[in-house]
Amino acid sequence: MTLKNLGLVLHGAKDIRLEERAFADLEALDVRVEFKVGGICGTDMHYYNDGQNAGFEMQSPVCLGHEMVGVVAEIGTKVTRVAVGDHVAVNPIMPCGSCPACKEGRPNICHNKRFPGSATVIPHVDGFFQQFPVVSEENCWKLPKDLPLELAAFAEPLSCALHAVVRAGSVVGKNVLITGAGPIGLLVAACAVVAGAANVIVTDLADGTLEVAKKLGVTETINVLKNPERLEELKANTGFFDVAFEASGAFPALETCYTLTRRGGTVMLVSVLPNKPNELKLNQFMLKEQSLLGSSQFTDEFEKSIALLAGNKIDVRPMLTHQFSFAEADKAFNIAKDRNQSVKVQFVA
Ligand SMILES: [Zn+2]
Ligand SMILES: [Zn+2]
Repeated sequence: MTLKNLGLVLHGAKDIRLEERAFADLEALDVRVEFKVGGICGTDMHYYNDGQNAGFEMQSPVCLGHEMVGVVAEIGTKVTRVAVGDHVAVNPIMPCGSCPACKEGRPNICHNKRFPGSATVIPHVDGFFQQFPVVSEENCWKLPKDLPLELAAFAEPLSCALHAVVRAGSVVGKNVLITGAGPIGLLVAACAVVAGAANVIVTDLADGTLEVAKKLGVTETINVLKNPERLEELKANTGFFDVAFEASGAFPALETCYTLTRRGGTVMLVSVLPNKPNELKLNQFMLKEQSLLGSSQFTDEFEKSIALLAGNKIDVRPMLTHQFSFAEADKAFNIAKDRNQSVKVQFVA
């Protein structure tokens, strides 16, 4: 039986086409997944809008998408992890397993990592916004059948958020700042709340997304355009926060992070900042002896994220604002970009 496999292929900035992709035979350890729900991520939006992300420019057409859940449609002869009909979430990180980073247990920073739906390697690896993506069984995580797929599709971004919080060390009893209430910032906030932070304060320029933050249980939200005085108050005594997460992708927000973080505190960079020069006053890190850390994707947090979602420990429903079919791709990407309207936009099949 040969089925069609239509995928959302980006040919260049703002040029996305629904077209046929390979429907290849499976290798022994491959799993063919029938796409059900996939979230649009900031990475997808960068490629769609600019044809590049974090400095990686598209060299050839590529199918986008790396946040995906679906139903196992077919398995290779040696697959044991999942069976046909299982609901699965797909971990998109494809590490080499043998480089120094992999040996250190850090597949997220693998030197030879392949990441679907991106231009980080040439030839690019197709992403999951296609009807029947094929992945290795080790990337498939079986989901409980009572976990709605639209919620399970948050497993990947939630893993990124969880990894950032884990990297910051214990946040129990700490004051935590998150600049940027996009999907990742909101999920970092939710993780910090669950992890026992004393105060979780979220900033943004848009009220709509700050309303969503309130539903996730944060202590306070600040619209920095409307209430810059509040930031000044939090700057007192060298800074109110023990840990700040920059999740907005804007240089001024990173400055807010280190000026509002106390001496000896930690600033965690989770966002993709503009790939251009900046005029940040980085002496702050030396003068206040702060740690500046980066967090990229995740390591062993994928399974934990599924458990958090399945156990209803983190309720992502307030974040899910829109769903579209592949045929409505341009509309989906445009709404995803409008932060007054949307938080998380998903494709559904
Ligand atoms: Zn993502
Ligand atoms: Zn590696």
